[in-house]
Amino acid sequence: MAIIIGKETGFKSEANEKFGLKCPYCDIYAYMSPQSVPSFDNLTQTRPKHAGLVYECDACRAPVFLRFAVQTYAEDKIELSPNFTELERPKERFNFSYLPEQTGLLFREALSCYSNNNFNAFASMCRRSSAAALLVMDETEKLKAFDELLAAQKIANIDDETFGPIKDIIFSAGEGDDLPIVNRAQAGILLEVLKDMFYQCFVRPGKLNRAIKVRQVFSQDDDQIQSSA
Ligand SMILES: [Zn+2]
Repeated sequence: MAIIIGKETGFKSEANEKFGLKCPYCDIYAYMSPQSVPSFDNLTQTRPKHAGLVYECDACRAPVFLRFAVQTYAEDKIELSPNFTELERPKERFNFSYLPEQTGLLFREALSCYSNNNFNAFASMCRRSSAAALLVMDETEKLKAFDELLAAQKIANIDDETFGPIKDIIFSAGEGDDLPIVNRAQAGILLEVLKDMFYQCFVRPGKLNRAIKVRQVFSQDDDQIQSSA
């Protein structure tokens, strides 16, 4: 998406002035329309390396701030890089209430690192989160957790080379601090497989047990009403 700010023509974008992005406010993947764009004259005066543009989310009408690197200053136009930085990223969500206390605390911070594009800080916090989770598991539960991780790899069809570092981050706790360096794509996979592992190990059994307990309480109440009638 090359963006041009022309001296005479003003703002022009190849992507028909609209493009899709996950909105940090409504969490919907929506079209973004340009709302506020710096003028050619203002940029030419100070020639900053970066320019900030405000887009409007088509779904919730919130302003979304994006920062672009300026590629070229020419006589009649300014060209911005097609890549941009989102100043506010959508928050990653998880049902933390079913996690063991310390795991929940650490995983919440892990997701905050991910939302802020700090992928290696995220990977470090994932290791701390999984180490805290493994501490409260017995041997059978640990094996189950490992099986869930391998199942996720199979379901998502992730090759061994990609999955190796992710498995190390989650399961090599206590084996030194030599965590692999991860990029955005690997961090995305790590996020989804660890969420899935925590879901299978804590959220699913927690929810199921709670739901069954509620059913039992209601059926006991029914029995008491019937026997007293
Ligand atoms: Zn929105």
